[in-house]
Amino acid sequence: MLFDSLFAPLADRTGPFLNLADGGSISGKAFVALVARQAHALRAHGLTPGDRIAAQVAKSPEALAVYGAAVALGAIFLPLNTAYTADEVDYFLGNATPRIFLCDGARQIELAGVASKNHAQVLTLNGDGSGSLTDAAAGQPGTITPADRGPDDIAAILYTSGTTGRSKGAMLTHRNLLSNAEVLADLWRFDARDVLLHALPIFHTHGLFVASNISLLTGGQMIFLPGFDLEAVIRALPQATTMMGVPTFYTRLLDDARLTRDLVAGMRLLVSGSAPLLAETHRSFEERTGHRILERYGMTETNMNTSNPYEGDRRAGTVGLPLPGVELRIMAEGAEVAQGEVGVIEVRGPNVFKGYWQMPEKTREELREDGWFITGDVGFVDADGYVTIVGRAKDLVISGGFNVYPKEVELLLDEVPGVLESAVIGVPHPDFGEAVLAVLVPQKGRTLDAGAVLEVIRDKLARFKQPKAAVVVESLPRNTMGKVQKNVLRDTYKGWFQ
Ligand code: ATP
Ligand code: MG
Repeated sequence: MLFDSLFAPLADRTGPFLNLADGGSISGKAFVALVARQAHALRAHGLTPGDRIAAQVAKSPEALAVYGAAVALGAIFLPLNTAYTADEVDYFLGNATPRIFLCDGARQIELAGVASKNHAQVLTLNGDGSGSLTDAAAGQPGTITPADRGPDDIAAILYTSGTTGRSKGAMLTHRNLLSNAEVLADLWRFDARDVLLHALPIFHTHGLFVASNISLLTGGQMIFLPGFDLEAVIRALPQATTMMGVPTFYTRLLDDARLTRDLVAGMRLLVSGSAPLLAETHRSFEERTGHRILERYGMTETNMNTSNPYEGDRRAGTVGLPLPGVELRIMAEGAEVAQGEVGVIEVRGPNVFKGYWQMPEKTREELREDGWFITGDVGFVDADGYVTIVGRAKDLVISGGFNVYPKEVELLLDEVPGVLESAVIGVPHPDFGEAVLAVLVPQKGRTLDAGAVLEVIRDKLARFKQPKAAVVVESLPRNTMGKVQKNVLRDTYKGWFQ
């Protein structure tokens, strides 16, 4: 299914598909030939339909081609964050039991032990495209007949980012991926004239599926950068028509005086997701460039769920409306809440995954039998249907028996002069069970008096919501997708009131 829709059509495209940082480019035709050669090589190494192939490799055209090769063989693609250590890789290989583990040649010796312990055969692929996979692919045919796969077959196991706990492997089917790409391409008006600036990693749903699948599906080009390098992004923006990014892309661009209206004059769409975009960033970006960033909301398990409209009101601080075909409801205490009330977001639709790989209990906890997925995100829907996320259920603070949503407190703290950003967490407290603690980051070149900051917000919040203390830090711990790791903060400050 996916092969026919995403990869096979490239065979007729002689124009550039991937534009690379060094000025070179790869045509659609050359790319799909690469996919075919890799697929033959992987088949020769024993990869059969339903087998997993794990890849912990740097972003490159060859790395993206491995996704296509897995799809062509009816195998299950399993990309891994390049930052994972050998111990972490051991967990993923143990959980997913892939037949082949693809890694960078520079880490082959370090990772050989965990691969053999988990019975995975090692092949290498380096950031420059060389490696034993490429050697094995060299003499192979440039065309392939794809394995027969149906809509419910698993195309990928994508592990969640591990923001709230151990990463879980989401089983994503051909239907999940294709339906979401089709809906988004249509909603965001992608076509063959588009040039997508791609600076995201390709081990995560945002860069791998949202960005790449849409480009593959609509026949557009990508400017395929190895990562977010500010200089390279600023150089590439005038050549692009669209960009997808995490909020830090936008804050880093705003920090640079070269971000002007002219620089992005040729662009028609800038998308943000994976972590909350501050309303302030949205407004500053519009003031500077005239562009209203389009924020959308999704997750590993579901691809995308909601999006602000392409035409119509893109509301700062909201993640927009449910996508066509996606149902969304807000639940509290086992029932749907009234419009405007806060509760846990649940979604249902063709985008929702099949369950967690090898974790039937987790699947039962989070995926209802009637198809509703309990996202774990807390939010509300306004009278116009726009969804606002107020935080994660796991980050909710219960202080003295009262619920405190960190976002509400963070928004007030962020407005205090001198505060760049903040994170509000609950930490153990002898009297209150949990107490609210504020972690503050000062703006560049400023110093902050934690007590004075709390004083500023004192009369804006009910007493139980007020932070009992605040600490000032240089920066917040974030993972590669720009998500604040509140579990790290909770752990760091767990003894604060004890
Ligand atoms: P884990 O499930 O392992 O704890 P994770 O949920 O961070 O990690 P992902 O699937 O990568 O892993 O991220 C999905 C989450 O990212 C969503 O549940 C939501 O909390 C957050 N998110 C995504 N887009 C947005 C957005 N536009 N605004 C706010 N949060 C967002
Ligand atoms: Mg999650």
